[in-house]
Amino acid sequence: MQSKMAMRAFGGLDRKVSVIGQGTWYLDQGDRAKAVAALRRGLDLGMTHIDTAEMYGDAELVVGDAIAGRRDEVFLVSKVLPSNASRRGTVTACERSLKRLNTDRLDCYLLHWRGQYPLEETVAAFEHLVTQGKIASWGVSNFDADDLHELLAVAGKGRIACNQVLYHLRERAIEHRVVPWCEAHGVTVTAYSPFGHDDFPSPSSAQGRALQAIADQHRATPRQVALAFLTRRPSVIAIPKASSAEHAAENAAGGSLRLSEAEIAALDSAFPRGREPASLPML
Ligand code: NAP
Repeated sequence: MQSKMAMRAFGGLDRKVSVIGQGTWYLDQGDRAKAVAALRRGLDLGMTHIDTAEMYGDAELVVGDAIAGRRDEVFLVSKVLPSNASRRGTVTACERSLKRLNTDRLDCYLLHWRGQYPLEETVAAFEHLVTQGKIASWGVSNFDADDLHELLAVAGKGRIACNQVLYHLRERAIEHRVVPWCEAHGVTVTAYSPFGHDDFPSPSSAQGRALQAIADQHRATPRQVALAFLTRRPSVIAIPKASSAEHAAENAAGGSLRLSEAEIAALDSAFPRGREPASLPML
């Protein structure tokens, strides 16, 4: 396998992001030094997109330690909780996150999911934060195509940088309408829980064997193949979470793997997309 991390456009930003980034949910729960080392190893290997959130307990503090002295290498994303996403609350939440991350700016700031505050309020706060230089861009998470359509009417063209949504081999609901909508409007799709959170196919299952067969062709691993499948379209990037440097290194190598059309077709049939569900699945 080649070792160079592929880079992708992110919304309308001039800057590109690594196709494979690093999630941080629950990263504060185990050995903190190990978690910091995992993130730093990921950075060394090109996984410079780091995703966190005010919801993730002390994960922002762990990220702050990991990026100390390396801020300029990182594409840093955090999220505001819907319960804080009023005009004033969004700004205050962002300032709290900046303090915990020990930085003066985010590269993108997301609304974690749609809540009770009108989109107008949250968007006004995001745009204010952009003007202040505290965030370079903003986006959303867990928005279905109808939510995105409403958001576009509020925000105007070219303002929504990304939509972060649940996407893994066994959960392909976003392929029906969310991905096409995002592609039509220049919005990056960030795949969260790309390994199914804790539901990755076991090696002994038929799905596990399908992954392994393709992995063997590339001297890769099933998880690297999964990441390559999810990011096969240029509009999609992924953010697996790893608590060890070994796992981070394995995931980073997935950022240079390209699958053939035949391999993509084989995975498509081993992990069928299924019908569009009534509502967008989320964790
Ligand atoms: P995930 O990335 O799908 O899976 C994480 C699990 O995979 C962990 O148990 C991890 O174990 C394991 N793993 C990772 N790399 C591995 C490797 N190379 N070999 C073996 N096991 C490996 O799950 P996730 O944390 O739910 O999703 C990723 C990120 O997406 C989150 O951390 C968060 O940043 C974001 N997210 C966003 C939302 C949202 O609503 N916007 C929701 C969920 C998640 P170890 O920890 O032992 O390495």
